[in-house]
Amino acid sequence: MRANTMNEVHGSCLCGDVSFRLTWPSLWVAHCHCTLCQRAHGAAFVTWIGMNTEACAIDDPHAHLRWYASTPGAERGFCACCGSSLFFRSERWAGELHIAVANLHGAVDRAPMAHVFWESHAPWAATDPNDGLPRKDGAGSN
Ligand SMILES: [Zn+2]
Ligand SMILES: [Zn+2]
Repeated sequence: MRANTMNEVHGSCLCGDVSFRLTWPSLWVAHCHCTLCQRAHGAAFVTWIGMNTEACAIDDPHAHLRWYASTPGAERGFCACCGSSLFFRSERWAGELHIAVANLHGAVDRAPMAHVFWESHAPWAATDPNDGLPRKDGAGSN
C-alpha cells in the first residue's frame, strides 16, 4: 500500500499508454487562451496546472511520449499513439511541468486563478463573465 494517496492525483492520455502522477501542492492553475494552446489541443482554451517537475512522475512504458518544440525554448508533450496533448515545459518556467487539467482523473488541489493570453481568446466560446478571475494579456505578471 502506498501512503499519501490523498496528496496526489493520477492522470493519463486518451489511450492510457502515457500516465502520470502529481503530488500536491500545485503551484497554480490557469486558463490559457493563446493560439498555440488552441491549435495544439483543438480547443478554445486549455486549463493548465503548474507543478514543480520533481512533484510529477511520468509512466511511459511504451515510449509514446513525444515532445514538439512549439516555440524556441518550449516543448509540448503528447502521446504518439492517441494524440492527446498532455504537457508543456519551457526555459521561461524552468523547473516546472505544466499539465492539461482535462487529462487528470481526479480533483485539483486549487481552483483556476486567472485567464491568460486573453487577447487571443476565441470569440465563439463563452466564458463566465462573472467567474471573478482576472483576464490578463500575455502570461501576466508571473
Ligand atoms: Zn495515448
Ligand atoms: Zn497557451
